[in-house]
Amino acid sequence: ALSIGIVGLPNVGKSTMFNALTKNNVLAANYPFATIEPNVGVVPLPDVRLKRLAEIFGSEKILPATVSFVDIAGIVRGASEGEGLGNKFLANIRESDAICQVVRAFVDDDVTHVDGRIDPASDMETINTELVLADLQTLESAIPRLEKELKGKKIDKAVLDTAVAAREVLEAGDTLSAKGAAAGVDMELAAGLGLLTTKPFIYVFNVDEDQLTDTDLQERMQALVEPAEAIFLNAKLESEVAELEDDEARELLESVGIDEPGLDQLARKGFNTLGLQTYLTAGPKESRAWTIHRGDKAPQAAGVIHTDFERGFIKAEVVSFDDLDALGSMADAKAAGKVRMEGKEYVMVDGDVVEFRFNV
Ligand code: GDP
Repeated sequence: ALSIGIVGLPNVGKSTMFNALTKNNVLAANYPFATIEPNVGVVPLPDVRLKRLAEIFGSEKILPATVSFVDIAGIVRGASEGEGLGNKFLANIRESDAICQVVRAFVDDDVTHVDGRIDPASDMETINTELVLADLQTLESAIPRLEKELKGKKIDKAVLDTAVAAREVLEAGDTLSAKGAAAGVDMELAAGLGLLTTKPFIYVFNVDEDQLTDTDLQERMQALVEPAEAIFLNAKLESEVAELEDDEARELLESVGIDEPGLDQLARKGFNTLGLQTYLTAGPKESRAWTIHRGDKAPQAAGVIHTDFERGFIKAEVVSFDDLDALGSMADAKAAGKVRMEGKEYVMVDGDVVEFRFNV
């Protein structure tokens, strides 16, 4: 499954946020036999549509889609030199599909900052510099190797060109996810070279409670990380919210002026950043969201439920959630002509409620 690695300087609130994430752990609740790694938090993707589907179909259970976060400890200045913790750190990042960087914006004299001052822009630069240096090291050994391989006609020229173009972006101090595509770097080939900064980034600003509604500050921070997504949350508040029942949680959130937990936003934006979307299935047993890649066709979507469904795919019976919601039942949706039969070439749309027909 795809996962998002959480990184950040020491004392920015990573552990606090990660604890809040794991209190939300849906794996434990829904899949009692799954083994859970201590540094992995599996969080539900909030989806109000599932509740409505459960109502329509009288489902016993609701199973949301999930997003996995991996707590990657140990980035410090010099991590790219790969000593001790550094190596483990880089290996963990390599395995992640996206990178979530936690940045401290909150002010608290009782919590030491590694550099002695609160400066989000400089903190992001410290971390990104380590990742950029790691990629430059990768290229330092890769480029001579690729030159030889090209002479021996073992690779396409495009691969070497990508490596050289990537080096130029990195030497200017930029990550490939921020500047690579604009500079003409083939991002797929660059990712194939094992370059870490090709991975999509999400930034989480750990802000003070009064900054949660400070739109000026948030716009400034968002501008710093463009084109990546930024999320603003207070890690301490999130860990309190994660322990409360829905009603109490809502009251606490309202008291600081926000209408949903920051972690819900994080799950949603993480899901988008990974290039994922969901489709829905529903019946008396469960209403469930399934994870697919944007652009997947019906047979691939069926394959997420079971590989046999993909192999034996015949067609998909599809109704959009909005139509089903408005009409109130499958029978009424059918009577209104809103239930379609779709074939192999159908590209799934977010919110499709589906039943697959297949041969075994
Ligand atoms: P990590 O080193 O990045 O994992 O940081 P921790 O999660 O251990 O947090 C470091 C310290 O900052 C702890 O004492 C936390 O209680 C505190 N802390 C974390 N988030 C916040 C926050 O949003 N506001 C304030 N005031 N303190 C926080």
